[in-house]
Amino acid sequence: MKTNSYHEAVSEKQKIGIWGMSDYLYNVIDKIDPDLTICGICDQNPEKHGIKICYGAVEFCCISPEELLAQGVQMIMVATRSMNVVREIEERVADACIGICHIREAISAYKEEWEKRSIEKYDVAMGNVTEPEETGKVKCFINLTVPISFCNLQCSYCYVGQHKDFYEKKPVLYSTEFIRRALSRKRIGGSALLNFCGSGETFLCRQLVDIIEALLDEGHYISIITNALIEEPVKRLLSHRRSDRLFFKCSFHYMELKEKGLLEKYSGVVKLIQESPASFSVEIVPHDELIPCIDEMKEFCLAHFGALPHVTVARDEETDGEPILTKMSMEDYRKIWGMFDSELFAVKMRHQTKEQKACIAGQGTFIMDLEHGGRIFCPNNGRLDNIYSDISTPITYKSIGHGCHSCYCINSHAYLTLGMIPEVKESTYYDVRNRQCADGSNWVKSTLQKIMEQRICENIEEI
Ligand code: SF4
Ligand code: SF4
Repeated sequence: MKTNSYHEAVSEKQKIGIWGMSDYLYNVIDKIDPDLTICGICDQNPEKHGIKICYGAVEFCCISPEELLAQGVQMIMVATRSMNVVREIEERVADACIGICHIREAISAYKEEWEKRSIEKYDVAMGNVTEPEETGKVKCFINLTVPISFCNLQCSYCYVGQHKDFYEKKPVLYSTEFIRRALSRKRIGGSALLNFCGSGETFLCRQLVDIIEALLDEGHYISIITNALIEEPVKRLLSHRRSDRLFFKCSFHYMELKEKGLLEKYSGVVKLIQESPASFSVEIVPHDELIPCIDEMKEFCLAHFGALPHVTVARDEETDGEPILTKMSMEDYRKIWGMFDSELFAVKMRHQTKEQKACIAGQGTFIMDLEHGGRIFCPNNGRLDNIYSDISTPITYKSIGHGCHSCYCINSHAYLTLGMIPEVKESTYYDVRNRQCADGSNWVKSTLQKIMEQRICENIEEI
């Protein structure tokens, strides 16, 4: 009988086929019950046929959907985050008596057991390991992808809107206890600067505050990318004893906020941070439609935040080569947005082409998916390993060297300022985040200043 319930399919010992051979599957296949009746793994892309992947002790070879369906599967477990692919699969098997569920249901069902075992293993292995000394230096800049793909705003230039292809079902997040161990100072080998960023509004992830509090207790420094409209989590974090280790990058979507009557709300949240020991930055995304509002926006920022906003550089992710998102000539673009005298803008504009020098991404920085622990070097540079798969061992580091596949250093404002290419001497990360206000106060306060002025390549040699 056809069922779309994972639990029913498992209790009836149905034959399950996994659909979707990707990095996502590699990252989650060890986090589902190892005793399921998996009979095959398929993908529509012929280039993936023949690729091998282990499920427990069994090695599967990726096959075509036709071959999988010919095996009499009763349940398809979809392993993709793309809504379009999920829809295609649903259409493909609509007439067959085959149920469909997402692999997240299998992860969720097995989560408690898997996590308990991992935590026990960590506690045994790491219990007697000496805590790395607090040196005030950071060993690594870790970008944590928060599994949120929706937002409380709809900015015209936003990639959430541009892609419109996220599988929306609730992500499965491991517990705070697990994540703290997975990112412990013992595993990392010291403190890290952890940057949390969702594909939508980061603070819409309900567990996030608990996770951040635990990682502050662990001894890390935290940065959060937010549109600064949700007051409650900000307030809670500001009451943490280590709130001076917090940095909020408050994206300032002026037109959207003005249109929705949210400017005061935004400035109220920023004010809370400004008056606390935490640090912040106000940052705009330059786009052509915003140009007529430049004067009023400047006035608003000076009146409410004591300084002009920083300016990033937006890219058109839909077009090959990801050109800068503007219809203006580069000369005009530089002239107009350069008026803000933002070091963030200056650094981004200085690094438009590929760096030919060796990079320490993979060692001084990496990106980890908070949902499943998958680790990549940096955007456009692929898979390293999975941080959650065995939390009982220290994290290993491997520099990418000259192997960068990116045609320019995406996020150069962070990677290059934090010293990921030792031969490139840039402004500091502090310079691209801080503004000094007319009254002499700074957006980035002393605790974070000391962290943001570091070049991680030099720390690695010292720590
Ligand atoms: S606030 Fe950020 S995530 Fe939300 S729509 Fe605007 S740019 Fe996108
Ligand atoms: S140069 Fe930039 S994009 Fe390339 S590997 Fe290094 S950090 Fe990544």
